[in-house]
Amino acid sequence: MDKRLDIKPNTINKSTLYDNFGRVHNYLRISLTDKCNLSCSYCMPSEKGLINFTKNPMSAAEIYEIAKIFVDFGVSKIRLTGGEPLLRPDCQEILESLAKLPSELCITTNGILIDKHIDTFKHLNIRSLNVSLDTLKEDRFLKITNKNHFLKVLSNIHLLLSENFHVKLNMVVMKGINDDEIFEFAKLTKDLPVHVRFIEFMPFHGNEWENGKVFSYKEIISSLEKDFELDKLDDQMHDTAKKYQVKGSKGTIAVISTISTPFCADCNRMRLTADGKMKNCLFSKGEADIIGEFRKGNDIKPMIEQCVKLKFESMGGQNINSLENRSMIQIGG
Ligand code: SF4
Repeated sequence: MDKRLDIKPNTINKSTLYDNFGRVHNYLRISLTDKCNLSCSYCMPSEKGLINFTKNPMSAAEIYEIAKIFVDFGVSKIRLTGGEPLLRPDCQEILESLAKLPSELCITTNGILIDKHIDTFKHLNIRSLNVSLDTLKEDRFLKITNKNHFLKVLSNIHLLLSENFHVKLNMVVMKGINDDEIFEFAKLTKDLPVHVRFIEFMPFHGNEWENGKVFSYKEIISSLEKDFELDKLDDQMHDTAKKYQVKGSKGTIAVISTISTPFCADCNRMRLTADGKMKNCLFSKGEADIIGEFRKGNDIKPMIEQCVKLKFESMGGQNINSLENRSMIQIGG
């Protein structure tokens, strides 16, 4: 039994971070870096000049101390994101320190460096990884990511599966770009115990989002239903994904429907960017300068509580068609 999972129910109950809509906040996503070894079109602005990469990211020690304060507040799940979190030279040190906290530790990665770190994951009992993969075609991978790492990512996904990791594949579905591949992704779940998550294309600074490029939850499910018999699975509280299973398959599929069917009503998520700013919503314009306060030696707890209290009811209080936000690579997704 995973010891961190073992303590999860108690820590959920003791969380004291509530917003003004009564939502408990017990899930923290920490971006370790805004650098990446891919340049995906929906994440990295096409003109890299649009990004002010951070020159002064949170150090490993700062990440640990700040995460510990969140865990003291009752955070029961921490997910490391980026950029590409495994690209950070001190990521092993960060993983080892965070794994000591009484909180579930998860990672979202593009998969390129998994083989270099798999022994660390095993040693620290990190058994669940989300891997971003938007296509099963090598030439298309190059087009979407601007890099030629398709075969490496694929072999690392198989490596995780052969070592019995819980693997979720995150596919951002973009109309006219890769929506013709949802059948192949769903088919993967027939024989492999992978959990494919179709993510609606979301707007971020510089990613040329348009409503017309969103392949929606309904469109995804009705397309799949033409080829597969789907069973609806139960969704748990705080789930972002609506889960299904192709009848008789080993894995599952799910849709993250942020645009067409937002799931803000029981949102429990907070984010820390690589430059140490706290966002109470993926789409929040406002950010709290947690690292600035921390580096002054001040108590950051009141700032965290206030940031949660200031959370809007949904979508950061913004209109999806005129969002003001940073690029996805700077937020951590
Ligand atoms: S849009 Fe914001 S409030 Fe809604 S689920 Fe996402 S992070 Fe939570």
